Amino acid sequence: MMEVDKHGDVTNSSQEKTVFDDSKELNPILTDLFTDRSQGPAGSVQVREVLSHLKKNGLRPLTDPRFDEFMRQMIVEHSGHGDHVEVKKQVSVEEFQAAGRSCPGLLNRALSCSLAIPEFKEFCTQIKSIYDELRNVKGGKNAQYIPQLARVNPDYWGVSVCTVDGQRFSIGDVNVPFCIQSCSKALNYAINVTEHGAEYVHQFLGKEPSGRGFNQIHLDKNGLPHNPMINPGAISCCSVLRKEDSLAERYEYTEKMYKKMAGGEFIGFSNATFLSEKSEADRNFAIGYYLKEAGVFPEGSNLKETLDLYFQLCSVEANCDSAAVISATIANGGVCPTTGEVCISPDAVRNTLSLMNSCGMYDYSGEWAVEVGLPSKSGVAGSIFIVIPGVMGFCVWSPPLDELGNSYKGVLFAKKLVELFAFHSFDGVLVDQTKTDPRLHHERGTQEINNMISAALSSDLVELHRCLELGMDFNLPNYDSRTPLHLAVCAGNTPVVKYLIKTCGVEVNPVDRWNSTPLDDAIKLELHDLVKYLELQGAVRGADVARGFTGVSKVRYGDVLRKEQDLF
Ligand code: GLN
Repeated sequence: MMEVDKHGDVTNSSQEKTVFDDSKELNPILTDLFTDRSQGPAGSVQVREVLSHLKKNGLRPLTDPRFDEFMRQMIVEHSGHGDHVEVKKQVSVEEFQAAGRSCPGLLNRALSCSLAIPEFKEFCTQIKSIYDELRNVKGGKNAQYIPQLARVNPDYWGVSVCTVDGQRFSIGDVNVPFCIQSCSKALNYAINVTEHGAEYVHQFLGKEPSGRGFNQIHLDKNGLPHNPMINPGAISCCSVLRKEDSLAERYEYTEKMYKKMAGGEFIGFSNATFLSEKSEADRNFAIGYYLKEAGVFPEGSNLKETLDLYFQLCSVEANCDSAAVISATIANGGVCPTTGEVCISPDAVRNTLSLMNSCGMYDYSGEWAVEVGLPSKSGVAGSIFIVIPGVMGFCVWSPPLDELGNSYKGVLFAKKLVELFAFHSFDGVLVDQTKTDPRLHHERGTQEINNMISAALSSDLVELHRCLELGMDFNLPNYDSRTPLHLAVCAGNTPVVKYLIKTCGVEVNPVDRWNSTPLDDAIKLELHDLVKYLELQGAVRGADVARGFTGVSKVRYGDVLRKEQDLF
């Protein structure tokens, strides 16, 4: 007996239910896509195919902590000559479903290609092309004020991205450590607001762009440093950071917070840079004394310790790969995408993003807000943390700086990024939308299919015609490989069936995931007129399609997935 479920699809009570609770169980339909039944009806899930599919979607199942438990079930440990671990070739469907219970939501979204960036492979290809285009570009100069920064290889060039779903892509010198320098300013502010609330923190610093160089000695109209993204405000921020504790504990705590935001990935410390910073720090000492005289710091704070903490936090190291996770944590509302740990409060994220947007790129911040339109923070070692709220975080790193102190190549990268993709915060208002939006591809596809299917089911010829005018593909199947024609037949609406075949030119024998063609549905529902009509149009039954009687080669969604090659 056919019935319409609450999603508007038709289910057959003899078939398994397709409505599925994403939060607890792995969708059996998705497991099915990776199940080989050639050796018997129970079938076995091809583990390597699953892993390569996850990797193609930017996930790192072998190191991503969200997959820890799942992966434990997917490997065999060999003991003997030096223990080693190997990925199983296949597991039973039951084993796979059981393992999937440790991360069902993530696996469901990954296996159905519905992560933050659904077509991640294509997206990475485009990021790589920007990276390659800039690889040999020369321009700018390393920061000279301390030897450790001046002597870094100026040809280092790395780009890393991490989406809010933890999809990763890194290219170039992405594992080379660099000091995060002023990028620490955004993090320190975020940590402070998380700890104390914005109202308290802003007793010691403002929110306005200064219109002056990052290390100018200057206060705003309220007698406070302008904002936390440049030195006076950043030093003030350090005076607040865990101020009750010893310097050692304050540093330790903050470094741990950075590491937490980086999902436990690489965070180091360059003592040489710290010592140089400190010995070359006349200007920062001058700023510090000026702030102290103006009564900016919280009561009882020790200037020397505050500055030490400031220099130390500038000397913390990350690499592009780990720093992209930090940016992604900010993009993800303060929750680390790869560990799920809450690092920064939503309020603090909102404030941090606002100030990164208006003040994060030194005296280029206004220009950046217009040209790039993404909250970002740059550091004098050549890194830029770029955040696309709700979508992803980038870290780009190239040591030579332009005259305003931002990474020369990093700025070019960001400009090209928003030329290509609709990522600028205000791109949504563009009428003539020529840029692509990698967030939407999948959504749009799913939406289109759902529209067509519900129009077919409800016999809405007007809507179907609109879809046709928009150039939609009426052969596209839904998650059960059912097409508008299947649904129109189930609705028993001959005019719509005729419209789909004659006007839209749809394939007459699409096969759904139960191997049924529209003719099978018509026969099952005893719709004799439709059976006759379909047969006249060359319709055959699913079993015949399977035996190759028609020469129709209908590739199903699962087969397409299986054929995809592993890019990385
Ligand atoms: N350590 C640097 C300073 O205060 C940080 C500067 C920067 O990255 N712009 O001079």
